[in-house]
Amino acid sequence: MARLCPLFSGSSGNSYYIGSEERGVLIDAGRSAKQITEKLAYCGIPLSAIEGIFVTHEHSDHVQGLRVFAGRHHIPVYASFGTLEALNDAQILNGKFPCAVIGPEGLQCGGMEIIPFHTSHDCAEGYGYLVKTADDHRVAFSTDLGVITPEVEKMMEGADFVVMESNHDVGMLRNGPYPYPLKRRILSSIGHLSNETCAEYLPYLAGKGTSRFLLAHLSSENNTPELAYQTALCSLKMAGLEENRDFILSVAPRENVEGSTILF
Ligand SMILES: [Zn+2]
Ligand SMILES: [Zn+2]
Repeated sequence: MARLCPLFSGSSGNSYYIGSEERGVLIDAGRSAKQITEKLAYCGIPLSAIEGIFVTHEHSDHVQGLRVFAGRHHIPVYASFGTLEALNDAQILNGKFPCAVIGPEGLQCGGMEIIPFHTSHDCAEGYGYLVKTADDHRVAFSTDLGVITPEVEKMMEGADFVVMESNHDVGMLRNGPYPYPLKRRILSSIGHLSNETCAEYLPYLAGKGTSRFLLAHLSSENNTPELAYQTALCSLKMAGLEENRDFILSVAPRENVEGSTILF
């Protein structure tokens, strides 16, 4: 059985484990190595299960613990060429762990097939990932993107499980404390997806076969888990879909304090 364990999600750090009980990969390592190690143990995932770390992009909330964690356990790191270059410039690639560019064809790791796709975000070369598990589930990770491009759409279509960014409520962001340039950046096509944009899109994905949605990368300033959840739920219901019959909807916690794992 496949399992997805959201360890951390949001602007203070992102990291997910996906795989089976015995083997799998991390998507991002955006908390300290110590915190990631503790959280994995808490969630019952042995360190030996992690056969690779797939990095979405070089922002610190995705790579904060990468150098120490990958170096300490000698875990290979995969990312786009642009991301690896940016990580090298930031002296995160220190030769203590292997790293490789993952091209559009993807690669096998942790007993799964992992295929990247480009995201529109203010970084060197952002990736989302489509993970095909050993038991044939397709899980798409789409966070840190300002807009859903045709490439992103193509990869998410037909995924039975989608981890989707629902970063902010537009009203809360506009009226909130962030400085104007930051608000503009977040709202731009290279920023983050709003609750509204995410929610509008979910019925389309449900129509293409997605039955499980995990809302992720919520802003702590400009969103609440309840608001993100209700916005998405409302949109799916308006499309005539029924929760727990046609779809399962949940929100990735900022920190997985319950040690919960999603089995599917
Ligand atoms: Zn980012
Ligand atoms: Zn981020």
